[in-house]
Amino acid sequence: MARYTGPSCKLCRREGVKLYLKGDRCYSEKCAIARRAYAPGQHGQNRKKLTNYGLQLREKQKARRIYGILESQFRKYYEEADRQKGITGENLLRLLELRLDNAVFRLGFANSRTEARQLVRHSHFTVNGKKVNIPSYELRVGDVIAVTEKSRSSEKFKALSEVASNVPKWLSVDKDKMEGQVVALPQREDIDIPVNETLIVELYSK
Ligand code: SF4
Repeated sequence: MARYTGPSCKLCRREGVKLYLKGDRCYSEKCAIARRAYAPGQHGQNRKKLTNYGLQLREKQKARRIYGILESQFRKYYEEADRQKGITGENLLRLLELRLDNAVFRLGFANSRTEARQLVRHSHFTVNGKKVNIPSYELRVGDVIAVTEKSRSSEKFKALSEVASNVPKWLSVDKDKMEGQVVALPQREDIDIPVNETLIVELYSK
């Protein structure tokens, strides 16, 4: 299945919540959810009440869309989360948070996860001193993520380094050095996404 390349705002309207897929625009009055908070399409304004399955499916789609992951890859994350000790839903969110593109976004080096993915693909980051251009690269505690030497002088990264970002507890950032570190594993309370992970586990464990 090909990656979704249609309008991002349509995805938010479909889920009925802000998924913050477009950076600054998401915080402005231009946000489509602020203007048309109903599902897209002809019948968007008179959708029926969801069944249990529908609710589970929507939660899974929401998570998938927030992190920008295809179905097959998302299922692999679920299988991995299920193999790990602990609560499967929390394991799943932890694995998603530990993706390199997500950490780049959380550190404030990109305005959205979509932008972070593109920046990683274009080799603007190193992990522990080595260039990594795989957005799904799984980070570990202690890993240092840094903007490459060459990219540090770019106006984009200079501008971003001046913006204060709200970095979660499991990461630390040094904007002057343009680098961050994974200082702990992300816990559920550190993950501020509007998703009920229990419903996702119920969907996949049928
Ligand atoms: Fe979603 Fe952002 Fe578009 Fe608003 S502006 S609908 S939060 S992608």
